[in-house]
Amino acid sequence: MCGVIDMTNKNSTFSIMFLLSFVPALCAAKDYPVANFSEYQQVVSELEPGDRVLLNDGVWRDVEFVFSAQGTAAQPITLAAANPGKAIISGRSNLKLAGEHLVVRGLVFKDGYTPSDAVISFRTAKPTDDSDYSTIAVNTRLTEVVIDDFSNPDRYETDYWVSVYGKNNRIDHNHFSFKRNKGVTMAVRLDTVHSRENKHVIEYNYFGPRPVLGSNGGETLRVGTSHYSLSDSLTTVAHNYFEHCDGEVEILSNKSSKNVIKNNVFFESRGTLTLRHGNGNLVEGNAFIGNGVDHTGGIRVINADQIIRNNYLSGLAGSRFGGGLVVMNGVPNSSINRYHQVDNALIENNTLVNVDRIIFGAGSDEERSAIASNSRFINNTIIHDSKDSPFELHDSVEGVEFSGNKTNFAPGEQLGKGFDNVDSLTVAAPKLPVTKAQVGVSWYPKYEKSALFETAKSVVVKPGEDTILNAYKALDGAAELVLGEGDYHSSKTIILNKPLIIRGAGQGKTRLTFARKSLIDLRNGSAIRLQNLSISGVRAPDDKANAVIRSDSKPMTKNFELELLGVEVTDLNINKDFDVIKLRQSTFADNVIVTDSNFSNITGTVLKLDSERDDYGMYNAEYITVKDSNVSNVNGGLMTVYRGGTDESTFGPHVSVDNVTVTNSPAADANAHSILLHGVQRALVSNSHFDNSAPILVQHTVGGPVVRISDNTYSHKPLYQVQSVVPGMESTFASENNKFSE
Ligand code: CA
Repeated sequence: MCGVIDMTNKNSTFSIMFLLSFVPALCAAKDYPVANFSEYQQVVSELEPGDRVLLNDGVWRDVEFVFSAQGTAAQPITLAAANPGKAIISGRSNLKLAGEHLVVRGLVFKDGYTPSDAVISFRTAKPTDDSDYSTIAVNTRLTEVVIDDFSNPDRYETDYWVSVYGKNNRIDHNHFSFKRNKGVTMAVRLDTVHSRENKHVIEYNYFGPRPVLGSNGGETLRVGTSHYSLSDSLTTVAHNYFEHCDGEVEILSNKSSKNVIKNNVFFESRGTLTLRHGNGNLVEGNAFIGNGVDHTGGIRVINADQIIRNNYLSGLAGSRFGGGLVVMNGVPNSSINRYHQVDNALIENNTLVNVDRIIFGAGSDEERSAIASNSRFINNTIIHDSKDSPFELHDSVEGVEFSGNKTNFAPGEQLGKGFDNVDSLTVAAPKLPVTKAQVGVSWYPKYEKSALFETAKSVVVKPGEDTILNAYKALDGAAELVLGEGDYHSSKTIILNKPLIIRGAGQGKTRLTFARKSLIDLRNGSAIRLQNLSISGVRAPDDKANAVIRSDSKPMTKNFELELLGVEVTDLNINKDFDVIKLRQSTFADNVIVTDSNFSNITGTVLKLDSERDDYGMYNAEYITVKDSNVSNVNGGLMTVYRGGTDESTFGPHVSVDNVTVTNSPAADANAHSILLHGVQRALVSNSHFDNSAPILVQHTVGGPVVRISDNTYSHKPLYQVQSVVPGMESTFASENNKFSE
């Protein structure tokens, strides 16, 4: 009879009165509305089974909740928002849980970040005694909680959003989106015995967008760690929706044994579900919907006794380790943190539609020489509209039995048996195992795709001094400033914190000059498109390190876009170090796009994207595109792109240079380069002309980058130099059809 009393529900007034009047001694459960943190601290130590602590509506700033209590299965102890979604936790805040039969419900974490290593931790401290559970949360439920962009302002500071320890915890119907700093969004951690064989259930959560991090550490969900990967985790991950989880190559990194990953949807997410460590995991009934988006992947298989069945994979464009279905080679007698051999894998009854790559023997090299053994690839249906085989065999498949598979293409000689090739084969798109509406919470909006500049309103700006800055200051959202013919001078740097388009009347017609070290500085939340105008450096100061556009000197968590469309830049030569675009450390552009533009008489570099020199695998921009443009007398060349280190966790940077004329940039006899591609993962330089210019310098750092230089003309040899930073590494560089002409 003694249920939880809902003080906020008028209909229960009678029953409350009844209970309070007649059976108070039998009914210990109480509601504790609290209005501030000291009230919270007063009640939290006195909680009895069935009690609820209800956080008042409003902003709770700089609060570090420790919620430690002992509930019972019949009467859990609850920490909740009095009204779901109305208690906002902000500032430097976090929540630590310990005890048993706890429920946390309805909180929103936004506009802040955790001062510790986790926003929500299922323990208050690491136990020192195997039998002491006093600092660990077990039988605890986290539900209807939102964590939205609760990101450390330094993108390379590491934290988790949810650190799951203990046993039998349920994490359901939560909303996690826009983690922008380093560190796994949610991790199931096994570092003490209290947290192994945990039987956690992670279900019906919305894992919303996780932007490209530009470094390792951008995983969305990790279960286990390599060190304890041979321990059973017994975690179930089911009915979750992963949307645009693009942080790095691993979306879901499984690093423990006997987990069940079923009925999840991975929607347009770059990367793969990776069975990285641990044995005997089941991957069943999941849907991977790529819609052809770059680097969308499926399932990567490593280790023993993995079952992959009844999954639906569609429109996956990923390659290499990020392919649609990837069976890795292992390392013989592998150490626990390298690659264990695939053994006894069952890949059965999966449907793959327009999946561009299915790879066996991935990673085959001198170290990873152990091919999959005792494994079966049976009764799968594989359709590709191109009728080309998506199979890539990077090593022998003699340890894999193929039978009962259906395709609409010829799978190739090595795979002839076990495939039934029916030209007209089709499959109906299945019902997805879970929908976006079924996950997360109903009272907090989920991500909707929108074009960055699309909603910009237009404002006309007249020529003159600081008219652009003054117009920008009057704006309250994204806008397009429309400039006429004439001269615009900026006596101050224009500091942007929202998306802006500056569009002129044409090159030579709309002329911009500036008097400070930079014309535009980018801050968090900004984006810039310059269009149809001319910029000259003649009035810039004779200072060090000038640039037309710079990112912040402090870390920026939000990725930005930077576009120059039909822009002329001249006379950046007042000093020796004057770039067009300079991106600084801990800042990251999703796109840098230059088209129909002209650059001349510049002492620095057009695109200087090389500030991450620590060789930790960070870099400045994901996609760099230059086309239909001219570069002449630029001493630092067209671009320097630097991604150091040997980590293999990122897809970028990507570089595309097409139909660009590079003249005397820098001069051919200089000991320099026109383009530096250091550690660039994918590059194509094509249809361009290099006239009396220094070579393209390609420096490989990790295996398998795809760099091509093709269909160019050049007046001075060599066109390019290729160097391997890692000794003995096989180069995958390619060049073709380049023509020398004096
Ligand atoms: Ca990783």
